[in-house]
Amino acid sequence: MGKHILLLGPPGAGKGTQSKRLAAEFDLEHVTTGDALRANKGMDISDMDTEYDTPGEYMDAGELVPDEVVNAIVEEALTSADGYVLDGYPRNLEQAEELSEMTDLDAVVYLAVDTDELVDRLTGRRVCPDCGASYHVEFEPPEEEGVCDECGADLVQRDDDTEETVRERLRVYEENTAPVIDHYRDEGVLVEVDGEGTPEEVFEAIVDVVDE
Ligand SMILES: [Zn+2]
Repeated sequence: MGKHILLLGPPGAGKGTQSKRLAAEFDLEHVTTGDALRANKGMDISDMDTEYDTPGEYMDAGELVPDEVVNAIVEEALTSADGYVLDGYPRNLEQAEELSEMTDLDAVVYLAVDTDELVDRLTGRRVCPDCGASYHVEFEPPEEEGVCDECGADLVQRDDDTEETVRERLRVYEENTAPVIDHYRDEGVLVEVDGEGTPEEVFEAIVDVVDE
């Protein structure tokens, strides 16, 4: 039977990258809430006490999909997978409690990265307003500073990537997920991995935890 892995960590900690590598390494399904939602747009939720009959209708209307619908979709994705890496869920304590009802976890890994380091990572993104190419001032710089390699346009920083917005996003994450982290710590299943090494070092540290 495939492993059940939960990867936790703040925005910018590298969850997405590490989840994909773990899924490939252990032949698991990479389950994110976003992907699970897109894959189950047409799911019949008319028996729930919800405004719409399918998740897709919330998405089309640009409205937040209610927690109970998200929970049902995540459950569907997890139960149909032979082993998974779950990434981006649970986002709050209620979802963590839901998750314990749905499935057993073999490993809960928290990718720990210092807030200032996260701010550096998350504010370094630059995008090309003309062709959409994406860069990072430190990790993936264009050949000429501030200029798009693809089309020569001046790169810009999106409003979402300014320090103020990024710090606020991290604060909200912290506020919602601190109880989630405590929940798994209290259960004795949380393993903290240093997320500040190279992607390769971080990956190896996670594999050690999962292999135990
Ligand atoms: Zn461009």
